[in-house]
Amino acid sequence: MAHVNVFDTTLRDGEQSAGVNLNRLEKVEIAKQLERLGVDIMEAGFPASSQADFEAVKEIADTVKGCSVTGLARANKRDIDIAWEALKGGAEPRLHVFIATSPIHMTHKLKKTPEEVTQTAVEMVSYAKEKFAHVQFSAEDALRSDREFLVHIIEKVIDAGASVINLPDTVGYTTPDEIGRLFRYVREHVPNIDRAILSTHNHDDLGMAVSNSLAAIESGARQIEGTINGIGERAGNAALEEIAVALKIRQDRFDFSTNLVLKEIKRTSDLVSRLTGMMVPGNKAVVGRNAFAHESGIHQDGMLKDASTYEIITPAMVGIDSSQMVLGKHSGRHAFKQRAEELGFELSESKLKEAFDSFKVLTGKKKEVTDEDLFAILTDTQTENEDQPKYELKAFQVQYGSINRPTATVLLTNPDGEEVEKANTGEGSVEAIYNTLDDLIDADVHLQDYQLSSIGKGRDALAEVHVQLTVDGVKASGRGSAQDVLEASAHAFLNAVNRTLYQVKRQSGYQKMQV
Ligand SMILES: [Zn+2]
Repeated sequence: MAHVNVFDTTLRDGEQSAGVNLNRLEKVEIAKQLERLGVDIMEAGFPASSQADFEAVKEIADTVKGCSVTGLARANKRDIDIAWEALKGGAEPRLHVFIATSPIHMTHKLKKTPEEVTQTAVEMVSYAKEKFAHVQFSAEDALRSDREFLVHIIEKVIDAGASVINLPDTVGYTTPDEIGRLFRYVREHVPNIDRAILSTHNHDDLGMAVSNSLAAIESGARQIEGTINGIGERAGNAALEEIAVALKIRQDRFDFSTNLVLKEIKRTSDLVSRLTGMMVPGNKAVVGRNAFAHESGIHQDGMLKDASTYEIITPAMVGIDSSQMVLGKHSGRHAFKQRAEELGFELSESKLKEAFDSFKVLTGKKKEVTDEDLFAILTDTQTENEDQPKYELKAFQVQYGSINRPTATVLLTNPDGEEVEKANTGEGSVEAIYNTLDDLIDADVHLQDYQLSSIGKGRDALAEVHVQLTVDGVKASGRGSAQDVLEASAHAFLNAVNRTLYQVKRQSGYQKMQV
């Protein structure tokens, strides 16, 4: 059985999804979970893009020791130097440097000839190799590049010290048959290819990212790149959990192993979905809410007789636990702490106290506190930055009636610690709250998207709201949960605004880094 390395780029390519902006603590929390999932390499960000990205990558490299942490760099010395500063504390520092190799990108974006591109790539790989033990080279838009040219540049960068060669389908254009032929061609024609690992990185614009990744493995790729839940730019990246489960279920077809711990899939998916605000569709393979539900009578009958009649993947395989623990108002601190640890949270004493207080408030309103409720409380506590001054909701009241115009009165503390209060109206209750918050906040705020969902089942379930805003022109996403939908709405709005208070704007051109 051949081994395939798993390269996760949820925190780089995934974080580039429209409307996603994770703070440092959220990135670290996801990184720790990816380590538990067993990825071999995680791409933590693009250190040269902003101070915030640099700091997040550095913290992840310094924290996560169970896998290799990498960061993206354009083919220039400044990007490589900054990446080294961020990554040098890691267990196995690794650089991911890229340059475009397709005619359309070389001509229009780089304005360089193929020979100039080769020369830059070789110089920068050699430069990176002076610092990094491992250098991965990506030929951006490889699937639309000239094959002869690819063979030429790959040979040169391997000679310069690149140990991983990634051939990304940057625009999600290829097919399984075509990508298979490209990987075989490269293996047959690059004379020194045995000194490097071939890697595949696919986008899902035509819905073939997972199939293309599997085809590339069958044709010699020994590293697969992707994201959790398939998040990413445009239609997203190949979903790592789908590839992992496909390799497992169809071992008869794919004779490959990975280091992934399949039981960690569900938690990883939940964490990424919750922190990014990118909801997993119910019918999504492997992790969707309905992926294991059987509605048809014939199926249910068959399932009762023998689960394998219609179920090819068991929920337990991917870590879906049917035996939910329930805590209530008599549950003490010890039981709470133990369950938090079982749910995968390592809390400091102060965070534990904060989470326990939130839990106690909830038990006053809700008879049974489920694992899903705890997961929401714990992720919120764990990723909240206590040190930064911010807007905080102190109290609010909404008057709603089918005849009257809804009116909201809101009391906040602002980042200077002062209490401020105002009232305003709207066509609906949420609009009344948002109009009032807008009056209280010292910025120009526009609502771009609003999503409401419930955490778990039942009439007394927690409400969760995800919003996307622009705050003085800067995009920000936010989330909030509370038992009441209006309170959750207010929290989500403030959460997004608070994120922009300390955000260093990304350098222009960042959004174009579509490896
Ligand atoms: Zn990509």
